[in-house]
Amino acid sequence: MPSRPLRYLPILMLFLILTALSGFIAHRLALQLGLAELQATGQHRLDLYTASLEREIGKYAFLPGTLALERDVLALLRQGKDARLTAQVNAYLEQLNDRAGTLSIYVIDTAGHVVASSNWRSADSFIGEDLAFRPYFLEAMESGSSNGRFFGIGTTRGEPGYYLASALADDATTLGVAVIKVSLEQFEKSWTTVEAPALVSDENGVVILSSVADWKFTTLRPLDDATRSAFDRTRQYNRRALTPLGLKALRELGHGAQLVSIARESPGMALPSPLAGRFLAQSRALPGTPWTLTVLSHLEQVDDIAQSRAAVAVAAAALLFLLGLIANQRRRHLRDRLAAREALQTAHDQLERKVDERTADLSAANQQLQDEIAERIRAERTLRAAQDGLVQAGKLAVIGQLSTGIAHELNQPLAALRTLSGNSVRFLDRGDLATTRTNLERIAQLVDRMGRITGQLRNFARKSSGQLQAVPLCRAIDNALALLEARLIQANAEVRRSCPLPEPVALCDVNRLEQVLINLIGNALDAMEGQDAPCIDIGCERIGRQARLTVRDYGPGLDDDAIQHLFEPFFTTKQAGVGLGLGLTISAGIIRDFGGTLAGANHPEGGAIFTLEIPLCDENEHND
Ligand code: ADP
Repeated sequence: MPSRPLRYLPILMLFLILTALSGFIAHRLALQLGLAELQATGQHRLDLYTASLEREIGKYAFLPGTLALERDVLALLRQGKDARLTAQVNAYLEQLNDRAGTLSIYVIDTAGHVVASSNWRSADSFIGEDLAFRPYFLEAMESGSSNGRFFGIGTTRGEPGYYLASALADDATTLGVAVIKVSLEQFEKSWTTVEAPALVSDENGVVILSSVADWKFTTLRPLDDATRSAFDRTRQYNRRALTPLGLKALRELGHGAQLVSIARESPGMALPSPLAGRFLAQSRALPGTPWTLTVLSHLEQVDDIAQSRAAVAVAAAALLFLLGLIANQRRRHLRDRLAAREALQTAHDQLERKVDERTADLSAANQQLQDEIAERIRAERTLRAAQDGLVQAGKLAVIGQLSTGIAHELNQPLAALRTLSGNSVRFLDRGDLATTRTNLERIAQLVDRMGRITGQLRNFARKSSGQLQAVPLCRAIDNALALLEARLIQANAEVRRSCPLPEPVALCDVNRLEQVLINLIGNALDAMEGQDAPCIDIGCERIGRQARLTVRDYGPGLDDDAIQHLFEPFFTTKQAGVGLGLGLTISAGIIRDFGGTLAGANHPEGGAIFTLEIPLCDENEHND
């Protein structure tokens, strides 16, 4: 990416080119318009000056010819020198000159000598002067009519003027020439505007009339030697220096207009500012003369206007360019903002789409999870039902194990009852009522004992409600031991039990707790089978908010395999038909349902110890 200043270089270049171009075009247009305007004004002035000059000259055109009507004039020319006639004609000419307002009026004979003149009184009178070399004389003599027109400087007084000459003829003979010299000074004075000078040049390019006094008798173009010697001969400009004006053509514009420049300084002349510089020169030939009228219009003003318009155009272009730049900048800024907003919207849409997708995924996952949970709950229910079934099966198994003992337990009192009832009948026959009474009381005791045994068996076999309730733990131990009484007696086992006061009460199902205890005590008896004096320690204590029950035996203890797989279903080391390997699995499940734990370990002093912990009742805790 180009650095900042370099990036703006093309814009700066464009700015410079545009402003320069608009300045240039405005300058050119203003110049052209100004020139056209100047040309129109110049043309108007040209018309005006031409008309007034024609009028001025035409005013006197007839005058020389009228002298042919004067008898005395003709007589003087015819007769030659005659003092009286000369005096009369001189007086006449003097009068006429005064009336007509001309410079001088004089009459020349065919030889070229002045025979009479309006200025006869003055010392430098023309009378007697030889003017045969003057072109107007020659022309008039040649044509024999009033054709002699000439602008020149007087040879006597050196006074410039316009000469109108006319041949004076008597019948067909030319007797002489009448000449009127007119001053065009008044006419010149009407061109007073110095800023827009006007001039009349003759066929040789000599300025003969000019609004600028210094320009008079200067040349517009260089004179060749032939022309100069002709001037010497005719003394047209009375040997004036005729220096060049210093005018240089710059460009032709058509219709007699051109751009010219006049040098500020030329030999023998230093011009003030409005008379030097660049001009629009418009020329026109004056009808009836070989002269050219030229009006000059200074270009300074047009230049000034063109320059100021160019400056305005440059400023306007710069302003427009800057406004354009600002508008462009603003447009780009808006476009960037729009793009950013669109990008943001796109990102937002994408995010929303992703969130929707994720939400859909999440709800699908959630649904799946819910389905899984429902499945688990169903499985758990099935498991629980199966477990309940197992518990029941376990109970029935225990009952089966107990049945031999119980049958034996019931057989004994039944036999005693048979004997006692037979004896009682005999004692009654003998009339020994005291012995009969004693026998009956013994019978009642035996029946009670049998009722207790069957009641406990019924309680144990009953299906558990599943409802947890406050269970006094020592009573539960007693019930379990009562159910096992026959087995304990048969094995000649000693049971050592301790129970603290007050009796701990746990929140559980009494029926199931008894089942667990019967299982643990049964396993202990199995482990010590064959020992002479088997002994079982049953403990009950409070540990914080828990009740801890322990069943310890003095058997061989648990080997590594048994410790590893103790609570796994169908793990058993017992003979087929004796053990199913379900007792501890079911017991652990029951205790877990109570919110407690069951663990088996080897006692440090030998034998196995099973520890059972279940939560105490709140009420029980308060009592504590
Ligand atoms: P079963 O009694 O039907 O075998 P149990 O789950 O009650 O099933 O016991 C599993 C096994 O744990 C027993 O086979 C025995 O190997 C071991 N066991 C249980 N209690 C004791 C104990 N007090 N001493 C030694 N081993 C025991």
